[in-house]
Order: sequence, then structure tokens, then C-alpha cells
Amino acid sequence: MPESRDVLPERPLPQFPEPDTEAFWAATAGHRLTYQVCGNCGQIVFYPRRHCTGCTGGDLEQRDSAGRGTVYSFTVIRQHRQPFFRARVPYVVGLIDLDEGFRMLAEIDAPPDAVRVNQRVAVGWEDHTGLSVPVFRPEPAGHTGGRSAQQPLQQLVDGIGA
Ligand SMILES: [Zn+2]
Repeated sequence: MPESRDVLPERPLPQFPEPDTEAFWAATAGHRLTYQVCGNCGQIVFYPRRHCTGCTGGDLEQRDSAGRGTVYSFTVIRQHRQPFFRARVPYVVGLIDLDEGFRMLAEIDAPPDAVRVNQRVAVGWEDHTGLSVPVFRPEPAGHTGGRSAQQPLQQLVDGIGA
């Protein structure tokens, strides 16, 4: 049977073996978002790699993130040549500042007009065989108890006053 237009194209996924990122992707299968911390200088390292970005040492420990953070910036993808992504436009890709101190690029699963800078987001998972893709979603209003939601605005105010 010829390929139907009703069959959605599949997401391109990482190919293994890939020594630098394999441990990261293995953790995602259990819905664990991980980052690295240098045992020598304490540098937080993301994306995963073999050598510290602070001291070039190789003593990197993999730690679990709580998967919560703030939108640093984002863009709306409105056209794409790859079939999987073309079927999703428009969609949002953002830089997320995780609470543990690292920044990652990821999709934000929300309508483009519902995403804003400094918004609180939490990781969710798109499951595949052997790994899951982290996709962030806005936290419901009030989920953080209100105080955290006000913090970015307060930082802006402090910045203006400085
Ligand atoms: Zn280091």
C-alpha cells in the first residue's frame, strides 16, 4: 500500500553509537533530564560532552535536573523542509534556563501566542523506542505559588533601577 497522506512522518532521532550524548539519551528513556557537573572545578556543563567547558578536565558527573525552568528566548518556526517538522508548523523552539543553571534548546509545546520570555516551563516527554525527546510546556498559572512567577519581573525592575 502506498504511503498515505494520513500517516504522519516520524521525528528524526539521534543515531547511536554516539559517545558524548549516549548517556544523556539513555536517561531520557526513564524521563530523566540530565546535565553534567565538573568534579574538578564545579562548572555546569550542557550539552553533554567528554570535557569540561571550564577547565577541560574529564571528570564530569551526570546529574538529574528537576526539569523546571524559565524561557530565556524563543522563536516561532513557520516553515520547514523536513517532513516531520513541516507537519508541525507553526511551532515554538526556545532557549530554556533550567533551575540547576544550564540552558538548553528545546521545543515548547504551546501555541506561539501563549509563549513569552521569562515564562515558567516544565519538561514533558515524547516517547520513542529507547529514548524520549524532552519537550517543554508552560506551567499552569499559580503552579509556582505566585512568588516565582513574579521574580523575573522583579529582576527587570532591579535592572532598570541599577
Ligand atoms: Zn572543570
